[in-house]
Order: sequence, then C-alpha cells, then structure tokens
Amino acid sequence: MSLNEKMVQDAVKKVLANMKISEMTAVGAKEPRMASVNGRGVFEDMNEAVETAKEAQKVVRKMSMDQRETIISAIRRKTHENAETLARLGVEETGMGNVGDKILKHHLVADKTPGTEDITTTAWSGDRGLTLVEMGPFGVIGAITPCTNPSETVLCNAMGMIAGGNTVVFNPHPAAVETSLFAVNLINEASLESGGPDHIACSVASPTLETGNRMMKHKDLPLIVATGGPGVVTAVLSSGKRGIGAGAGNPPALVDETADIRKAARDIVNGCVFDNNLPCIAEKEVVAVAAVTDELIGWMTEENGCYVIDERQQRALVDVVLKEGKLNRRCVGRDAKTLLSMIGISSPSEIRCIIFEGEKEHPLIRTELMMPILGIVRTKDFEEAVETAVWLEQGNRHSAHIHSKNIDNITTYAKAIDTAILVKNAPSYAAIGFGGEGFCTFTIASRTGEGLTSAGTFTKRRRCVMSDSLCIR
Ligand code: NAD
Repeated sequence: MSLNEKMVQDAVKKVLANMKISEMTAVGAKEPRMASVNGRGVFEDMNEAVETAKEAQKVVRKMSMDQRETIISAIRRKTHENAETLARLGVEETGMGNVGDKILKHHLVADKTPGTEDITTTAWSGDRGLTLVEMGPFGVIGAITPCTNPSETVLCNAMGMIAGGNTVVFNPHPAAVETSLFAVNLINEASLESGGPDHIACSVASPTLETGNRMMKHKDLPLIVATGGPGVVTAVLSSGKRGIGAGAGNPPALVDETADIRKAARDIVNGCVFDNNLPCIAEKEVVAVAAVTDELIGWMTEENGCYVIDERQQRALVDVVLKEGKLNRRCVGRDAKTLLSMIGISSPSEIRCIIFEGEKEHPLIRTELMMPILGIVRTKDFEEAVETAVWLEQGNRHSAHIHSKNIDNITTYAKAIDTAILVKNAPSYAAIGFGGEGFCTFTIASRTGEGLTSAGTFTKRRRCVMSDSLCIR
C-alpha cells in the first residue's frame, strides 16, 4: 500500500506558502507551479518498499527499450516542468544552496542524463560464430542519496537505473526527505502516464541510518549505489554486497603562469559559487604559482565579487564553520554574505565568495566545506603546486581542475592527481555537461572507479555465444 499522500502534500503546501515574494522574483521566477502530489512509491517499511519495487521490476524487465525510453522521456518532461518547485523545496527544506542554480541543475538533469542509448551491445563475429556482450538489469537497486543535490540525484539515478531495466528503492538523506519523495512521486507519475507500472521508484517515508542499514542487508537488492560522504561509502563497501561508491571530494583548482589569469579568476569563482558550492565537483580551494597569485587575487576581487578576509576574520570563520573541530551543518551551502554576517561583517550585495591566502594545512583550506570560501595557497613553482594540490585532494580521486595553456603541465597534473574528473580552463560544472561536452550525472563513483555513472553503470554484462553459426560475412 502506498502511503503519505497527505504528508507530501502538506509539506509542499507548507513550503510554497512560506515562500517570500522577494525570493520568487530574485530568480526571475513566475508563479510556482504545484505538481500533483500523491506520494506514489512511499512506504512505511523498507521491506515493503523493496517487495513492491520487485513487482514493478518484473514488468520493467519485459518492456521493450522503446517503452523504457518513453518513461524516461516523461521523467525528463516532468523534471523540466517541476524544476522550480523542486529547487524551492530543496532550498526550503535543507536551508542549503540557491533556488536559481538549483533550477538550472534540474534542467541539466532533464536534458543531459543518458537514457537507453547508453545500453549498448559489443559483438565479435568471425569463423567460429557470433558472440555478444549485452547489458542486463540487476533487478532492484538500492540507492542512498545526499542532502546536497537531493532531487537531482534521485531523478538522475532513477533515469539511468530504469533505462538499464531496473527499478530502484531510495533511502534519501533525512534532511531532504520531502524534496526526495516529491521526486520519487514524479517518477512514478511519469511511468503511469506513459503506460508503465507504478512503483518503479520507491522509498521509505522516514529514512534513517537504520533503514539504510536494512537496505544494505536486504537479500533482494543485489547492488547498492551510495552517493555521499566517506561514512556511507565505507558502510556500503563493507556490507558484503556489490557497491558503487560516489564519495567525498575536495577539488583543488591549480593556476600556473601560462593561464589566462583573468579568465581563470572568473571560471574558478563561477564554479565555486554555483549552488553555494554544494556540488562535490566544485572548486574548494586554489593553488597558484607565486608569479601569478597577486594578479589572480586582483581579478577575483575586482571583477568577481570576492571578499578578502584577514587573519583575525579567518580565525572567527574557523570558530563558526568548524565549530569544536566539526563541520557546522548550519554553514554548509550558505551564501558568502550570510557566512560573513555570521562573523559580524556586513558586505555589499555583489559579494559572492570569501577568499584569503593561507598554508595548505589551514583548516578552511584542507577541509571539504561545501560553502563559497576559497583559500588560496601560493607555491614557488609548478612542481610544488602539483604536490600541494595532490595533498589537498587527499586521495579521494574525485575531481581536480587546472588553468594552464601548457599541455605538458596539464598532463603532469592529470597523472599525479589521478581523479575521476579533471576540468581544464573552465568552471568545474563543465565536467557534468554544463558549458562542456558530455553527459550529466550527480553520482560520480570516485571510490569504486566507475567515474561518472550512467545507465550502463547500472547493468550486468552478459556474454551470449553462438558457436560456428550466425557469422554471415
Ligand atoms: P552524507 O554522507 O551525510 O549523507 C549521504 C547519505 O548517506 C544520506 O542518505 C545519509 O543518511 C547516508 N549516510 C551517512 N552516513 C551513513 C552511514 N554511516 N551508514 C549509512 N548511511 C549513511 O552526505 P551529504 O552531506 O548528504 O552530502 C555531502 C557529501 O557527499 C560530501 O562529502 C560530498 O562530496 C559527497 N557527495 C559526493 C557525490 C559524488 O557523486 N561523488 C555527490 C554528492 C555528494
């Protein structure tokens, strides 16, 4: 039985009722569109959610690729139509990020998440016959999702998983449950409206670590996909099941003396402030060679809305942001002006990012903060810059960025840092198809090595062999 129609409806009504007019006009928004919400796919109990998703998968696995693609097209359409509602829900519920950028993220998910075109066949044909390797579904996949990109991840994961012939059960972050369940409901509506089954995406009404652990142990979930910090990825990889681990990052942006420094300043700040620095791929600190550091800081402050804080202000920010040595969740995903106001600084409206120069060991530099604070480490030369950036990336093998016109330098950096993503001469978001080529994903499997996930990642490889026949050359 599907639950929580009222819960989701009440949550959406509450959020929309609380929205300030200024907030709506700030992003040039029209009257928000209320999607029809009936809480499809939401269950009280994890076992019930898995059981129901299993039944739906029996239908999905028999569908033609065309039928799957029809459902995915409907999810794309609904994501476009509800981009603003989802963005507002996300900001209101989590208190993180900004509505304008979250709207863009949802349109990006709708436009650039791969569908069934990602499910391909490899063939060998020769004297001894024909052999195919095909991509088949796992069945029901368990997906654990973060609060930083909640509905973006649910929608993106679901599109890829369904394209692969799976259904999915989510255990969303408890801090983003309403936003995530809204997305789960949209996915099921899309399926029903395009002739597919209900419950292709399911979730529990009140996800917790406990329901997540039950998911990891559930016998009918052959694959768990975890998007989040180091704790959840380690838990999934220790569960004894196949796991895809999309873990934490701390992406450095390296700038050498050959870069277009003015453009580098613009790109780095634009990438850093996107959705208030919530994306795991976003620039978290800068490493610049000494010859260009002053010029870089100059362009950052003169043209890109950066506010330089002195040592006393840095200490005050450490006390607030890393309260008692722990990341203060109240600061994550906040904008620069709000963060400055927390240490008693009233800044002009054009301020978008807080910057300062410091050693790599500085707590605001070495910690993944997920807020628009960019520490800048000055190094004597390129070699030291590479060493520093590798140290700051902390072996996450997630994302790194470089601004350089020297291809030898770019190659050296790429080999040394060995990350799933390396953006050259662009803002970090170019990595997920926003101002760069390639598809979009919000699950970057840094820990387990699949890299940017897509429908094919969520399939099993099957070899199908016909000996001494069907080769017709
Ligand atoms: P988080 O780790 O707090 O939570 C992520 C999910 O894991 C949530 O659903 C949470 O309930 C669950 N969880 C956390 N610890 C768990 C445990 N020990 N056992 C079982 N479940 C657990 O992360 P967040 O704050 O929501 O997101 C931010 C973090 O996620 C950052 O570190 C960011 O870099 C990372 N992230 C990575 C990617 C990627 O694609 N690699 C994408 C988004 C976020």
